[in-house]
Amino acid sequence: MIDQIKGLHHITSMASDARDNNAFFTGTLGLRRIKKTVNFDAPDVYHLYYGDEVGTPGSVMTYFPFGRMQKGRRGIGEVGVTEFAVPPGALPYWQDRLATFGLTGMEGGRFLGEARLEFLGPDGDGFALVESDPGGRSPWTAGGVPEEAGILGFHGARMRLADAAATGELLTFMGYQKDETEGGVTRYRIDGGNGADTVDLEELPSARAASQGAGSVHHIAFAVENRAAQLDVRKALMDTGYQVTPVIDRNYFWAIYFRTPGGVLFEVATNEPGFDHDEDTAHLGEALKLPEQYEPARARIERVLPPL
Ligand code: ZN
Repeated sequence: MIDQIKGLHHITSMASDARDNNAFFTGTLGLRRIKKTVNFDAPDVYHLYYGDEVGTPGSVMTYFPFGRMQKGRRGIGEVGVTEFAVPPGALPYWQDRLATFGLTGMEGGRFLGEARLEFLGPDGDGFALVESDPGGRSPWTAGGVPEEAGILGFHGARMRLADAAATGELLTFMGYQKDETEGGVTRYRIDGGNGADTVDLEELPSARAASQGAGSVHHIAFAVENRAAQLDVRKALMDTGYQVTPVIDRNYFWAIYFRTPGGVLFEVATNEPGFDHDEDTAHLGEALKLPEQYEPARARIERVLPPL
């Protein structure tokens, strides 16, 4: 069994419009844009990162705004709901705020004893705010949301699957423990995590498959402390029969990827070196940061990327 996973690291999704995406996360949700870079495989597309003050692993939502991309079709084989944690008592504030910003799909409720507010993002992205604060995390407060309501990072994520058993087994192998079940959704929780500690599996045997597009989660990344832990995890997964990519340098972390039995793409990402290794914490996310191989093309890349 793997004991190096520390909760979620980041979640990466796709959007149709960079400006709308930036306005939604920094304006409506009050997160900090912690990095403005490009898709390392398609440098004409931004890779935008949002999170807490320094982009603490477990708080980092990232987007590829592809521009005029068709909306995804929701279904099985994907992360259907990205959940952010907010302090207890914060949901009435958010209900008002999200209504003021004209958001749709708002639905309050309780799940496994926690108050939650579901809503849709600009491309129909599935989000929820969950009242939960085990302590140790602080919101970014310069984004217009008061500290007592601010987003603390991820609470977790909910996956929609035709059959949850194999993915449940994988999560258990990754160090998660099976928790309670409610309404066909089973919670898995990791001990000693970074706060982004739950993964919920929703089993929908007769639902159609998701088709990825704007508003869809592209992959979900789990955190490990460092590269040594990542190599241990990679070996353990490969010994169990998973096809895992080689380690890829993503400039702010090292990444490995593998496809899971339920169809969701998993990543394991290192907490090192972090988002503040190439710019000052006070100015994170302001300048366009390019990986070395694209620096020679900076002028052309800056011309094609829309100003935020
Ligand atoms: Zn990733």
